[in-house]
Amino acid sequence: MKALVFNGPRDIRYESYDDPELRSANSAMLKVESCSICGSDLHMYHGAHIGNTEYSADAPKFCCGHEFIGEVVETGSDVHGFKVGDKVLAAGGTGCGTCPVCLTGNQKQCRAATAFGIGPSLQGGQAEYVNVPNADATLHSTEGLTAEQALLLTDGMATAYFGLTRAEPKPGGSVAVVGLGPIGIIAVELAFILGAAQVIAIDPVASRRDMAARLGAQTFAPSPTMHAEIMEATGGAGAASVFEASGAKGAINSVLPLVAHGGNASFIGIPEPDDALPLPLIMFKNVTVRGGICDVTGMWPHLIPLVRSGRIKAEGLFSHKFDLSQGSEAYRLFDSRDEGVIKLRIDVD
Ligand SMILES: [Zn+2]
Ligand SMILES: [Zn+2]
Repeated sequence: MKALVFNGPRDIRYESYDDPELRSANSAMLKVESCSICGSDLHMYHGAHIGNTEYSADAPKFCCGHEFIGEVVETGSDVHGFKVGDKVLAAGGTGCGTCPVCLTGNQKQCRAATAFGIGPSLQGGQAEYVNVPNADATLHSTEGLTAEQALLLTDGMATAYFGLTRAEPKPGGSVAVVGLGPIGIIAVELAFILGAAQVIAIDPVASRRDMAARLGAQTFAPSPTMHAEIMEATGGAGAASVFEASGAKGAINSVLPLVAHGGNASFIGIPEPDDALPLPLIMFKNVTVRGGICDVTGMWPHLIPLVRSGRIKAEGLFSHKFDLSQGSEAYRLFDSRDEGVIKLRIDVD
C-alpha cells in the first residue's frame, strides 16, 4: 500500500509500505478515508522528542499518523462491537485490550499503550490501510458526524476538552488559552460552553487570533507588554484557569505568571526533555499544575453528544485539503504556521 513514511527530520515521503495484517484477534483493519496532521507530529518532523524517543536522521522508518477515520474491512474473532462496512473513527492511541487494566476500561494505563504512528511499534493511519488493535475500545461509529468532526474527535477536540477541564474552568470564571492551533481554538469554544465569562486567547499568528475573537475571546499577541495588558484585562488578578496548548518554550514560560492566585494551570503541549516550570511561582501563588496525555476515548461520552446536537460547532478549522500523495507538501505547509493555516485534511482514495 501507499503511506506517509518518516524518513528523517523534515522528510515525510509518500511511498510504498508493507500492507498491514490483522495482528491480533481483537484487531480491526480499516480502509482509511481521511486523516490529518497533528501538532505533535511536528515534534517528529523537527527531529525533536516525544518522551524519550528522539526523531533523528538515523531513527527507524515508520508510517505516520494518529488521526484517521475509515471503514472496517476486516475484523478479528474477538471484535464484537464492529463489523465489516462500519464507518468509524479511531482514538489516537490504544492499549493491548487484554491485560487487567485494559479489561477495566483503563487502556491508557496499559504497559503496551502507545499512539498510532509515532514509531515502528504501531503503524499510523496516514496510509491506505491501518490495523487497529483493541478495536472494541478504540473505535467509535461516525454516525451523525461529519468527516471533519470525526477527525477532530480522534484527538484534537478530546485533548482540548481534557486539558481545559484539568484547568478547572468555573461558570462565571476567567480562562486563558495559550497557543491557538486547532486544540487552542476548540478550547476557546469549549470554555464558553462550560460557562467561562472571560476567555483570553494568545497566539503570535493574527488569523488564529481572529478565529478566537470571532468566538468571543479577548486576544493578545506575545510581546514584552502582553503580561501587563492581560493583568489589566483581568482586573489585576490574572486568569483563574490557564490552558497551555502549544508546547513551545515561550508559551510554556508565559503560563505561570498569568495564573491568578489559587488558580489552575494545565499543560498538554509536548515538552522537550529539559523544559521546566518555576517552583516559586507554583508555591507562592498556590497554583495547581497538571499535565498529561489525553485519554481520548474517556472524553467521547462528553463530547460526541454535544457535537451531534450542534452545541459544539468547531467550525472553520480545516483550512486546507490534500490527497495522500501530496503528504510531503501537507507537512511542509502545516509546519509553516503561515497565516490562514490551521488544520489540514488529507483524503485517501
Ligand atoms: Zn494528535
Ligand atoms: Zn493492556
